[in-house]
Amino acid sequence: MTTLAENLPGNSIGFVPTMGALHEGHLSLVKKSSSENDATIVSIFVNPTQFNDPKDFDRYPREVARDLNFLRSETVAAIFLPDTAEIYPNQDLIQYELGNLTSVMEGAFRPGHFNGVASVVKRLFEIVKPDKAYFGLKDFQQFQIIKKLNEQYELGVDIVGCETIRDTNGLALSSRNALLSVEERTLAVHLSETLKLMASRSQRMSHLELEDFGKNHLKGYPDIEVEYVKVVDPETLMPPLTTLNRGERLALLAAKIGKVRLIDNMKV
Ligand code: AMP
Repeated sequence: MTTLAENLPGNSIGFVPTMGALHEGHLSLVKKSSSENDATIVSIFVNPTQFNDPKDFDRYPREVARDLNFLRSETVAAIFLPDTAEIYPNQDLIQYELGNLTSVMEGAFRPGHFNGVASVVKRLFEIVKPDKAYFGLKDFQQFQIIKKLNEQYELGVDIVGCETIRDTNGLALSSRNALLSVEERTLAVHLSETLKLMASRSQRMSHLELEDFGKNHLKGYPDIEVEYVKVVDPETLMPPLTTLNRGERLALLAAKIGKVRLIDNMKV
């Protein structure tokens, strides 16, 4: 059986896995991959195993025709649209042991989420066989977990992190933003605003003071339901040692606005 990659020209294959409802954030990954590889493959697959809430899975935006159009002007060699049976030929999911990275923040609030992410990424890598794969730092915890998965299971892919693309008002682009009402979108801007305020205070605050500041600031917006505001060492995702410089810590938050759950992060 030939693999997707074997049918493509050139030597290096860049891969951009997505769940569709594409936006400029996804596009920045595609452009980076195109600039660094002979051929780029984009996958679109709304992965059921990473949704801990079935309603979230049902609501997730699906716009494949629009996505294909959106990618038309890009140099993409192949768009991979697998179905669930192709990704999960067996019913049983492996339980991945990826250590502490999976137990905090998103791992704590979305049980099973990262096991689903690890399952789909490992399977997609097996099918696509890329040299490099591109992931957004907006999903920072996911990025660290995929690096660990790649090392631990010797998948041999060069994992590349790409900066978060934001709206002009600071809101991190996300497929889920399409689910926000106009009022909710206005409210969502306070997430990145809070992170910016934390960054501007970071010189004089410990990580705990910064977390408290962020949580208190968001209390001013009762329609934002905060799940966590954390300041961590980006490598370990644990509380930062005092030796870590200001500006090298990472502030991460998750909050629900109406039914839509959003995450964001910024160096502080
Ligand atoms: P998703 O379709 O949400 O699973 O995202 C697919 C990839 O795009 C992931 O690696 C995300 O981290 C990345 N991504 C999503 N939003 C952004 C953004 N605003 N900036 C950069 N990358 C992003």
